[in-house]
Amino acid sequence: MLALRLPIAFFHRTRIMYKLSDYLIFTPAVANKQSDDALHIMYATRSGNSLLLKKSVCDNLKKGAFDKLGDETLAKLIQIDAIVPQEENEFETVLEENLAIIAGYRRLTIVIQPTANCQLGCNYCGQKHSKVNASQEISNKIVARIKEKLSTGAFKSLKLQWYGGEPLMAYSEILRISQEVREYCAEHNIKYGSHMITNGLSFKPAVFLNLLQQQVSHFQITLDGGQETHDVMRITKEGKKTFNIILDNVIDVTNLPEYIASDVSIAIRININQTTVRGIYKLIDLLAQHRLYEKKVFLDFACVVDWGDNDASKGSLSREEYAKQEIDWYMYANEKGFRFGGMIPERNYAPCMVVDPNAEVYDAFGNIYPCYEFPYTPKYEGADYKLGHLDANPPIQNPNAITRNWNSDVKTDISPCKKCPLFPVCGGGCPKQWYSGSIACPSFKLNITDRLALDYLNKREAAKKASAKVETLAPEIA
Ligand code: SF4
Ligand code: SF4
Repeated sequence: MLALRLPIAFFHRTRIMYKLSDYLIFTPAVANKQSDDALHIMYATRSGNSLLLKKSVCDNLKKGAFDKLGDETLAKLIQIDAIVPQEENEFETVLEENLAIIAGYRRLTIVIQPTANCQLGCNYCGQKHSKVNASQEISNKIVARIKEKLSTGAFKSLKLQWYGGEPLMAYSEILRISQEVREYCAEHNIKYGSHMITNGLSFKPAVFLNLLQQQVSHFQITLDGGQETHDVMRITKEGKKTFNIILDNVIDVTNLPEYIASDVSIAIRININQTTVRGIYKLIDLLAQHRLYEKKVFLDFACVVDWGDNDASKGSLSREEYAKQEIDWYMYANEKGFRFGGMIPERNYAPCMVVDPNAEVYDAFGNIYPCYEFPYTPKYEGADYKLGHLDANPPIQNPNAITRNWNSDVKTDISPCKKCPLFPVCGGGCPKQWYSGSIACPSFKLNITDRLALDYLNKREAAKKASAKVETLAPEIA
């Protein structure tokens, strides 16, 4: 930030005080059609910016020969935090920025898991299901807790997320809680928004229309490859197949005029392991045949990982293999019409909700957790994982529940994050995994250079299509 305010002449007088940032990624060189000087994409993760640079510029940068760079190039590099003050402890700066942003959050994030029940018995799921929905008493306490937080005046908006078990097994509780919280938000001029992660079995048009009324604006629904693979992974507890029911529901809902006229979107989550990987292309083809890319339906690939020591990752691809293939799936889906945001991560001030001291997860029993993968999972039943209980006075009994202090613990050797050039855009992946002793890096840790190249090609293609000057959309050449 300091660097942004410095005129370039000042930099020249004091250049000895500057250094190359630790938070840079360079792609391998590619041929430059305009000269013999090859090109690299440089990604400055402290700002989330990427630039196309000549090899000669990169060489001078890496040598610290900043005086050989032109004023304009220097100014740009300082502006995007690629060159930073010599004495700066960048990790500390990044963490301080993260903490300041989190302290200034004016959005309250709440996850409600209103049922411990689910129709499915997916073989990678770590939850123990039971036929328990939030009682009227627990539902009332959830509403009261949210209102109490909002009544402090500290929040301008509320983001509610429904998760389970399968949340739609508690459909009436969802409608009741939503109605009450929405009314409170409307009366107090607080922006309300809600999302849902559902298995999609009960996602019928009539259900959707009621959820639309309750302002659920985004759904995540899982299809694990085509029918052959999905129906191995995601069967009901009685062993029944589910692929066709879920796909039909998505098609029926996205054909509704109310859906089309709305801002609602759907992410199709594809959990990938050695079984489902065989069905990825088939699923993309099928979804494209139904032209779902025209209906605000997006794709979200995820590697199957352990969930509460259940060894689910045993059947997964290696991290390297997954990262390599993921780029192929992106490219294939892109060709079929699906668009992806976030190919190149932006500066990210929090890995997830666990570091937000106001964010809470409520389960059907009234427990309060920091992380939405803790409820109903035997490994996380201990008091160390719980913030408290809605019946307790005060409800928060253990503000230091595991994961909550991630932004302190990340300074220790719990993970390699403090030395990782991606930390400013990652924040630590999935902290829960690091506390469990597992590697928690997102796939971009292993395929970021491919992503940078793909992102550049996509932007160049978009610029060509828009008949705009390529330079307006593509990273600049210094
Ligand atoms: S989780 Fe992995 S990619 Fe993210 S900051 Fe930590 S080490 Fe880097
Ligand atoms: S710790 Fe991991 S599982 Fe828990 S909320 Fe964060 S990203 Fe999700």
